[in-house]
Amino acid sequence: MQLLDGKQLSNTIKEELAVQVSQIKEQGEKVPHLAAVLIGDNPASESYVRSKVRSCEQVGFESTLIRRKADITEEELLEIIAGLNDNSDVDGFIVQLPLPKHINEDRVTLAIDPKKDVDGFHPVNFGKMAQGLPAYLPATPFGIVTMLDRYGIETSGKECVVVGRSNIVGTPMSILLSRKAKVGNCTVTLAHSRTRNLSAHTLNADIIIAAIGIPGFITGEMVKKGAVIIDVGINRVDDDSKKRGYRLVGDVDFDSVAPKSSFITPVPGGVGPMTVVSLLMNTLRACRENQYE
Ligand code: NAD
Repeated sequence: MQLLDGKQLSNTIKEELAVQVSQIKEQGEKVPHLAAVLIGDNPASESYVRSKVRSCEQVGFESTLIRRKADITEEELLEIIAGLNDNSDVDGFIVQLPLPKHINEDRVTLAIDPKKDVDGFHPVNFGKMAQGLPAYLPATPFGIVTMLDRYGIETSGKECVVVGRSNIVGTPMSILLSRKAKVGNCTVTLAHSRTRNLSAHTLNADIIIAAIGIPGFITGEMVKKGAVIIDVGINRVDDDSKKRGYRLVGDVDFDSVAPKSSFITPVPGGVGPMTVVSLLMNTLRACRENQYE
């Protein structure tokens, strides 16, 4: 079993990005600028956004954090988005999800200019991705593809089961892995809450991507020997032994699955850091090239 160390790999990619930023500065060109909009005080969202802003600083990007209280109206948020769309200094921006219940997330996603949609959530980017056209790939699936690529894991012709069909992880992941591409050419099964006999599918899988949101859902007896395991889940479980009162666990029961796997991502330190670095890669692209012109 080999750990897929997302922390280490993301640091390597950040170093590569930092070199590119110094070259940009030497040439007097525009430095990439990422803005993040954070609504309310959801602790998990706060920590994700903090990590995104800190990563911008590490590689030399400019960053802007726009914070508003949870009682912001949808209209007010849409105005902030319109301002960021029009601000030529901002190359890309994200609106951290989830949003308070009174705000329609679909309306918010649709309001983001696809050229600045570095999270890759807008239907224009999703559609382009599905057709294999240049697009901002959604950050988490992009991070997973990068990880499989950099670790040299063969995907062509492999059986892959993606568990979870969200618009931001499971569904785009299933599309990317079935595309005709360097990391792709898998035979993909997209499993979800209505899938019958999930184990019959996972036991046949060479690659399992778990994006469910249930701690330890994938267990050792559901996994074939030698499988590649990508654990997307980030779940907080109570733990009195920790100073903060909780610990983070994935959707995979690491202790029973790891001994059967060939490669496995840890939680934390697996997919999470790769998501952040993908956002940076998309922002650099947004700054350097306008793929829609
Ligand atoms: P979501 O909550 O939107 O959807 C969960 C999916 O799991 C649904 O499609 C549902 O059909 C499926 N599911 C639920 N119960 C199931 C069952 N019993 N059997 C099979 N499938 C079932 O999911 P999401 O937003 O993709 O998030 C999933 C997990 O990934 C969460 O823990 C989230 O925190 C984490 N996440 C991590 C990152 C990262 O950067 N590592 C990014 C996004 C999400």
